[in-house]
Amino acid sequence: MKIQCNRLDRGFEMFQAEFEQKARDVLRSGWYIMGSEVKEFEQEFADYIGVEHCIGVANGLDALWIAVRMLGIGAGDEVIVQANTYIASVMGITINGATPVFVEPDIYNNIDPTKIEEKITKKTKAIMVVHLYGQASKMDTIVEIANRYKLKIIEDCAQSHGASFNGKTTGCFGDVACFSFYPTKNLGAFGDGGAIMTSNAELANKIRTFRNYGSDKKYHFKVVGINSRLDEIHAGLLRVRLAHLDELIRGRVILCAKYDSRIVNPRIEKPLIRDGATSVWHQYVIKTDKRDELIEYLAEREIQAIIHYPIPPHLSEAYQDLGIEQGSLPITEKDALQILSLPLYDGMTEEELDYVIGAVNHF
Ligand SMILES: *Cc1c(COP(=O)(O)O)cnc(C)c1O
Repeated sequence: MKIQCNRLDRGFEMFQAEFEQKARDVLRSGWYIMGSEVKEFEQEFADYIGVEHCIGVANGLDALWIAVRMLGIGAGDEVIVQANTYIASVMGITINGATPVFVEPDIYNNIDPTKIEEKITKKTKAIMVVHLYGQASKMDTIVEIANRYKLKIIEDCAQSHGASFNGKTTGCFGDVACFSFYPTKNLGAFGDGGAIMTSNAELANKIRTFRNYGSDKKYHFKVVGINSRLDEIHAGLLRVRLAHLDELIRGRVILCAKYDSRIVNPRIEKPLIRDGATSVWHQYVIKTDKRDELIEYLAEREIQAIIHYPIPPHLSEAYQDLGIEQGSLPITEKDALQILSLPLYDGMTEEELDYVIGAVNHF
């Protein structure tokens, strides 16, 4: 049996008729940018997360760098961020000329809240929290630290649509939250898309104006902005998927509960979920010191497993100018050699899951 790490056709097929109907409706409407689908989606997604304002943008990276910029963070400022994140989180900071200050992850693969305070300086302006692999970070401690030092919180929710901590949804904790709708995300579009969320009306207006050429009224330009908009067709298709998001999350929870209970190979460390946190299982990430052998073993059985992410941002070629040496973030660097994401996607069958579990246990 051939098993891809991810496959998007299954998630499409689950609601194919609804997606096709919506695409037809938008195509026939004659309105393709900034229309009713975007407006409706922004409202529905804000309600789903539990914040006041949602502003659709072109992708998750735009959401991040625009959020950082609109908070007034730039050259000379520092932003604390976890070291094992996807590089887009870091680029959201550095595009604005600000400096990322990396914090090691804890055993839950999220920012270690006990290691944040030691990284705060006079230049620190914000903590960017990434709810990695779908699991909510320990937000009570992080909010407490941010309040005490008067720092902003930027949540990177690109992998955590619907995850919660102490009953509160990720995206509600910060001054601003950034979402991606890249097709592989839990709430995925059929192309690029993103959103910024905030309950601060003034900030929301600033973001709304900036993403549309700095215009809040047609052909009246208040500031020099950019063009970063969510398209009508993607907003429409996202509305279809959003209506099924809880069902999709339940499906992933069931799949991952089976991975958890049936993977019994002592060489494999299974992912841990923190008390009070939930995961929407963007990825099911195991750890093993025989990682590369396991990849090969699975590949021989036509099972594809992928590493999220093989090179931590501070060691990537793009960030050599930060001058952060190898060995300076030992947990992040060790994890990068041991992590592996097992196949996981909406619509994965019991048979496919069994096949992967069997192979992992035989390894
Ligand atoms: C995917 C992702 C992004 C970027 O989203 P794009 O829409 O691909 O630009 C940012 N942060 C994290 C953690 C992500 O996983």
